[in-house]
Amino acid sequence: MSLDRRSNKGIRPSALVAALALALLFGGCSPAGEISGHASDAGHLGRADAARDAEVPRTDAGVADASWDAGGGPVDAGGGEKDCYADDKWTCVSVSPAGPYGKRTFQVPAAQNWVNTGLYLRAGQKATIAESGTWNIGGDAGESIDHGPCVVGDFVARIGLHYKDKALTCISGQGTFTADKDGILYVGALPSNDLGETYETRRNATGAKNVTVTSTGDTAPTVASGAVAQYDFGKVTSGWVELAGEHVLVTLPTRTAKADQAILLAALERLDAIYELHEKLRGARPQHGQRLRFFPDGTQPGYMLAGNPVRMASSLVEVSSEDRISNAGAPPERAQVWGFAHELGHDFTFVHGAWNYQDRSLESWPNIFSVHALEALGIPPVDNVTGCPSAKGSYNTWDAWGGLCFLLQFQYAYGWKFYADFFRELNTLSPSQVPGGRPQWHFVHDLFEKTSGKDVTPVFRTWEVPNPG
Ligand SMILES: [Zn+2]
Repeated sequence: MSLDRRSNKGIRPSALVAALALALLFGGCSPAGEISGHASDAGHLGRADAARDAEVPRTDAGVADASWDAGGGPVDAGGGEKDCYADDKWTCVSVSPAGPYGKRTFQVPAAQNWVNTGLYLRAGQKATIAESGTWNIGGDAGESIDHGPCVVGDFVARIGLHYKDKALTCISGQGTFTADKDGILYVGALPSNDLGETYETRRNATGAKNVTVTSTGDTAPTVASGAVAQYDFGKVTSGWVELAGEHVLVTLPTRTAKADQAILLAALERLDAIYELHEKLRGARPQHGQRLRFFPDGTQPGYMLAGNPVRMASSLVEVSSEDRISNAGAPPERAQVWGFAHELGHDFTFVHGAWNYQDRSLESWPNIFSVHALEALGIPPVDNVTGCPSAKGSYNTWDAWGGLCFLLQFQYAYGWKFYADFFRELNTLSPSQVPGGRPQWHFVHDLFEKTSGKDVTPVFRTWEVPNPG
């Protein structure tokens, strides 16, 4: 299906959500040909084909000696384990490695892409949840969504962050939550359906609710990067934790955390490094700059699906898979990070909700970020990229890789500063100022010429990309 006629101008928000559903078809990074309808998905299939001995820049873990909990100073979880990250804006709920959970009171900002309560429930187990305060989700408050009974703006509790889960529980005041399956309890403001959230439907959300959760259930601690090397994952009776880097969260079974404990810090630092390189290129952060979570969904259509969370196939947290996310901490020649860089790249293309410029190239633009990040990290690009300098193609027939090769022509000519400047211009525009469909290419053409100071029309013509000349 073509994306040509998509535009967010003058259409109702619900129509936009429908349009976004089409975008998902192309944005859902599924294995080749299965879901996306593309001959190939530029997202994750390629592999580095050569080893290189470059070191990944080490970021400062920076949290080991800071306060551990949004509510106060360092938290000793009882057995010497410390959990949670220090953050003055985003909530991390500190819990012991094992239940009973007891009672926790914390803030839930409307802009936060789901707060991990630290509670792990098994199917049929219950929690009492009380909420108070006000928030403003902006936009479509009160509108229904296409999964579950809750409406936009509701306070919602859910087990896991499974894509378009219908088992959403909306609570006003106080209520009892009953788990429909095993998993971590997340709470938050409902900003749209799960697809819309990928496209920054929380961007105008303000305010926070004060929330108290009470339960005898188990716990799911959040372990910050400064503690992952020594944390005793064997004490976590739920079998699940979240790991926190400076910019990412990773939801992981403890069996994997234990098996990969020696490389967990390196994995978080490499994902953080990719994020920081994406930020350097974009000049802005997605989703209010909060940590982006990688969640093993296991139900979503495809291998990975961008957003916050980035939803992943279950295999990506299993020790048996070389592609598992914790293996991002392996040496460069063995770390398969292209796919994770690609998903984060999607999020960086959606900043501020101005995403329409990606006509027939929704799977190409994220890889501008991937190529840039992996190059800076000394990790070889995937095979499909190495042929781009001499590639020829047509807008009318290209796949995701062809679109990427076209976009890379301008990087070859003008360097990475070209895209850094392009995105900084884009950052000044509201979503309504960015056209969709074929007119989008006129927009990109003109912005490319403004950015480069050169006539880029010959390149557009060669690749048969719509342009005003
Ligand atoms: Zn993708």
